[in-house]
Amino acid sequence: MERNQKNRLNTHYISTENGFESRTNLLADFIIDATGLDAEVKANELLNDLVIRYNLPLNSLKRLTVSNDFEIKEMRNEKDERGQTYDRQGRMYACGTMTFGGPYAAVDSFLGLQYTALRSVDNLVKAKAPGINYLNGLSSLGQWWKWVTNQSPS
Ligand SMILES: Cc1cc2nc3c(=O)[nH]c(=O)nc-3n(C[C@H](O)[C@H](O)[C@H](O)COP(=O)(O)OP(=O)(O)OC[C@H]3O[C@@H](n4cnc5c(N)ncnc54)[C@H](O)[C@@H]3O)c2cc1C
Repeated sequence: MERNQKNRLNTHYISTENGFESRTNLLADFIIDATGLDAEVKANELLNDLVIRYNLPLNSLKRLTVSNDFEIKEMRNEKDERGQTYDRQGRMYACGTMTFGGPYAAVDSFLGLQYTALRSVDNLVKAKAPGINYLNGLSSLGQWWKWVTNQSPS
């Protein structure tokens, strides 16, 4: 993966099948890794690196420790190296099986994934994150309509 001059992500995807190599380039604004997770977080290269680098605590089932809003609190960047508080804080949220054993038992289920998304968005709204509003039935219907009519989400 690399960032291009317009600050977009260019992903080079190389796959090999029956001895043939194929290459694809994907240009995107952001990437969501949704490849799922079967084992404890230390079995996943990306998560293991995150845990070691930031010394993150694990729960009793060796998954990421999250708050009731599914935030990894240790990842907040509230202050710079001189102790000054940033105007805008970065926050990181996690859901699904990587948080299994945390505040919500059914986290690795279809309902659990929706619930964690909702709690995380609500938490971001409370933190006054720019451009984020509470999800409700009407706005969800509006976004669904955009999806149906092939329009960009807003
Ligand atoms: C047998 C079974 C029954 C279940 N029944 C229910 C139920 O009735 N109700 C309920 O709410 N939940 C149920 N669940 C749980 C639910 O399926 C999971 O919570 C949900 O699917 C997790 O979604 P996910 O997107 O995190 O991961 P996944 O759905 O596992 O998606 C991960 C995707 O990434 C792909 N992938 C993995 N590695 C790579 C790679 N290297 N490159 C490219 N692609 C990759 C996989 O092929 C997969 O398609 C069930 C789970 C199982 C196993």
